[in-house]
Amino acid sequence: MIINEHEINKILEESAKCTPEEFTRIIEAGRLGKGLSLSETAVLLNTTEAERLEEIFSLARELKDRIYGKRIVLFAPLYLTNKCVNNCLYCGFRAENKELNRRTLTIDEIIEEVKLLEGQGHKRLLLVAGEHPVDSRLEYITEAIEKIYENCDIRRLNINSAPMETGEFAKLKAAGIGTYQCFQETYHKETYKKMHPSGKKSDYEYRLTVMDRAIEAGIDDVGMGVLFGLYDYRFDALALLQHAAYLEEKYKCGPHTISVPRLRPAPGAHIEEVQYPISDEEFIKLVAIIRIAVPYTGIILSTRESQALRETLLSLGVSQISAGSSTSPGGYKETKHSVSDQFYTNDNRSLDEVSASIISLGMVPSFCTACYRVGRTGEDFMRLVKAGKMKNICRYNALLTLKEYGETYASNSTRESAAELIDILMEEIDDPRLKEQIKIKLEKIQKGERDLYI
Ligand code: SAM
Ligand code: SF4
Repeated sequence: MIINEHEINKILEESAKCTPEEFTRIIEAGRLGKGLSLSETAVLLNTTEAERLEEIFSLARELKDRIYGKRIVLFAPLYLTNKCVNNCLYCGFRAENKELNRRTLTIDEIIEEVKLLEGQGHKRLLLVAGEHPVDSRLEYITEAIEKIYENCDIRRLNINSAPMETGEFAKLKAAGIGTYQCFQETYHKETYKKMHPSGKKSDYEYRLTVMDRAIEAGIDDVGMGVLFGLYDYRFDALALLQHAAYLEEKYKCGPHTISVPRLRPAPGAHIEEVQYPISDEEFIKLVAIIRIAVPYTGIILSTRESQALRETLLSLGVSQISAGSSTSPGGYKETKHSVSDQFYTNDNRSLDEVSASIISLGMVPSFCTACYRVGRTGEDFMRLVKAGKMKNICRYNALLTLKEYGETYASNSTRESAAELIDILMEEIDDPRLKEQIKIKLEKIQKGERDLYI
C-alpha cells in the first residue's frame, strides 16, 4: 500500500499536542539533516505557537543554507497544448470549459516560443500539456523534445504531463528528458474522486502508481506535488511524504523535487471557492517543514505565488522557481493573459526582474544544468548531495552560469549587480587552486565562451 489514509489520520490526531521537550527533540533531530518521520513531521504541521514556529523557520533556513547554499535555479514552463479530455474541477483546461480557446502548438510554433525564452536567458524549460489522445500523444512530445534540443540552446527539458505506461516512459527517457513531474493533486481519495469526475485522470490508483512506472522505465529524476487547497494541507503533506518514503524504500531514491502549487483562480474552472484554503502563514510553515522533513529534495515554487511570498520562501527552503511564465500555449508570443490560460499567475515579472531581485537578496540565480549533462542524476546525485559534495560544485557552477547570463541576456543594471555579487562570492572561495580555476572560466565567459562548468 502506498498511501495509508487511516495511519495518516491517526498520526495527525496523536500529534495534536506535544510537550516542550518533545518539540525540542524533533527540532534537534531535524538539525541532523537526515529528515523526519511522519509522526515528527505531523507535530510540526500542527504547530501554531509563534515561538515554536520561529524555531521551525530558523531550522529550515539553516538547512537550506547548509545543503543548497545561496543558489536558486530558474526555469520557465512551456505549454504545448491546452486540449484535455479530463474534467478537473479546478482547471481552466477541463474538457467541459467551452469558453477556452483550444490550441496545440505545431513543432515550428514550439521552436518559436523556445527561441523567445532562450532570448531571455532560460536554459531549463518545463514542458506542460493537457491530456489528449491525439494532441498530446507521446510521439508529438518526443518530437518536440528532439527538435528543441536540436535547434535551441536549451540544456534541460523537464516535463509535466499525464501519467503514461512504462514503455512510453522509456521512450520519453530516450528522448532526453530531465525530470518527469506529475502531481497527485490530493492524496485524499474521496476528494480526489470529487475533483476528477471523468476522464482517465479519475483513476486515483493509476495516477498514484505513475512514479513506479516512470522509475521502472529508467527515469531516475521524478517530481511530485500536491495542489494545495483541495484538501487539508496537513493530510496531503503527510501523504506526499509517505509516498516519497515509499519510493525511497523501494527504489533507493526518493523524488528529485517536490512542487508546492497552491490553487489559483482559473478562467472556466468549475469550482469558484477554494475548499480548504491555506493561508500565507500556513503555506510558509508548510514549505519550511518540507525542507526539514526531506532536506535533500528540491522544492519548486511557481509564479502562482506573489513576489513577496516567493522572496520569503527562497531562504526557507525553495530551491527552484519559475520566472516570466505564461500558462497558455503560444503565450510567450502573445504576452497578454488570454482565454487560453490554465490559471492566472501572481508574479508577472520578467526573468531579468526576478534575477535582479534574487541578486539583491544576496542569492545567485542559477541556470546550471551540468549535473544532468554529466550524468549526475537519481541515486548518484543523491549520494553526492548526502555526502555534502554537491553544494560546492553547484555553488561554482551557479556563478559561471550567472556570469554567462549577465554577459549575454541581462539588462545593464542586472549585469552590473551580477558582476558585483560574483566578485563578493569569489572572495569567499578558500582553496586558491579552485579559485584560480573558476577565475579562468569566468574570464573565458567574458571573452565569449559559453556553457562552461566544473
Ligand atoms: N494535464 C496534466 C496533469 O493534470 O497532470 C499535466 C499538466 S497540468 C496543466 C499541471 C498542473 O497544474 C496540475 O497537476 C495541477 O496541479 C495544476 N493546476 C491545475 N489547475 C490549477 C489551478 N487552478 N491553480 C493552480 N494550479 C493548477
Ligand atoms: Fe487537464 Fe491537467 Fe487541467 Fe486536469 S489539470 S483538466 S488533466 S490539463
